[in-house]
Amino acid sequence: PAKHTKRGSAVYFSDEMGGIMRDRIRLLRGIRSAIEAQKFFLVYQPKISLDTGKPDGLEALLRWQNEEGDYISPDYFIPLAEQSGLMVIIGNHVLRSACWQLSRLREQGYTSLVMSINVSQLQLQEADFVQVLERILQDYNVPPDKIELEITESIAADDPKKTRDLLLKIREIGVNIAIDDFGTGFSSLSILKYIPAGRLKIDRSFILEMEQDDSIARIILGLGRNLGMMVTAEGVETGDQYRALRDLGCDEAQGWFFSKPLEEEALYKWLRSVFG
Ligand code: C2E
Ligand code: MG
Ligand code: MG
Ligand code: MG
Repeated sequence: PAKHTKRGSAVYFSDEMGGIMRDRIRLLRGIRSAIEAQKFFLVYQPKISLDTGKPDGLEALLRWQNEEGDYISPDYFIPLAEQSGLMVIIGNHVLRSACWQLSRLREQGYTSLVMSINVSQLQLQEADFVQVLERILQDYNVPPDKIELEITESIAADDPKKTRDLLLKIREIGVNIAIDDFGTGFSSLSILKYIPAGRLKIDRSFILEMEQDDSIARIILGLGRNLGMMVTAEGVETGDQYRALRDLGCDEAQGWFFSKPLEEEALYKWLRSVFG
């Protein structure tokens, strides 16, 4: 297949490129019909307070099972959803489902849990994002301080001033902001001054290397402490990592050592087993 560029010259896709394009088109079609058929669902990963050793929150993570029954990783389909204009629809669906789930948990007595929800930069760029958020909180009667939005450092890259104003508005209604995957982006430390976040999440890669070299984990912890932020460690897989983080004074941790992300039923079972 040939594609004509502006200059009129034809660019030929190699077979491989053609294959990738076909895969992408199939994937996009899949995302569209999955939204319609509600084939997206959330799983929830417990987050543990290192003070009490008990869960203090959950992170909502999106899952998609395609028509063939395979699970597609969000690391793969989220960027595609962003490129294709479907991210806002999916993201609003995530916000709504996570708040609905939290309200159910609260009805069961789990009123101390905070629900963390990942949001895409594209959602934040929607003019009515704060209104949509407020509306959803009202619909499910969820206290704003029981919701935390996870964003990545890159969001401040475009327009730091605009980003800051928006995030301040979100903080004003009582919803907290967490900076996800901290330390992996390309932005400078000065973004910390632009992003009014209450929490830093140490990227999994720095937890993974802790047994050999814990310097980055310590630095991020120190940063968070100096800026008056809470710090969460992501991807804690071993007891050694857990104890080291607790001893360093990290506030919170999540990872397979405690629990993998759980579907609704398994989540209730898990919560009953730890809270009794
Ligand atoms: P993230 O927000 O940093 O989420 C943490 C990822 O680490 C999750 O991958 C989780 O399943 C995985 N994980 C948790 N504990 C461990 C561990 O101990 N070891 C290892 N190896 N991995 C662990 P997942 O669910 O595949 O999500 C990948 C990324 O996709 C997320 O990274 C987030 O950036 C994005 N994502 C997921 N759900 C949503 C969503 O609803 N909206 C948006 N915008 N992004 C989402
Ligand atoms: Mg996250
Ligand atoms: Mg992360
Ligand atoms: Mg990530």
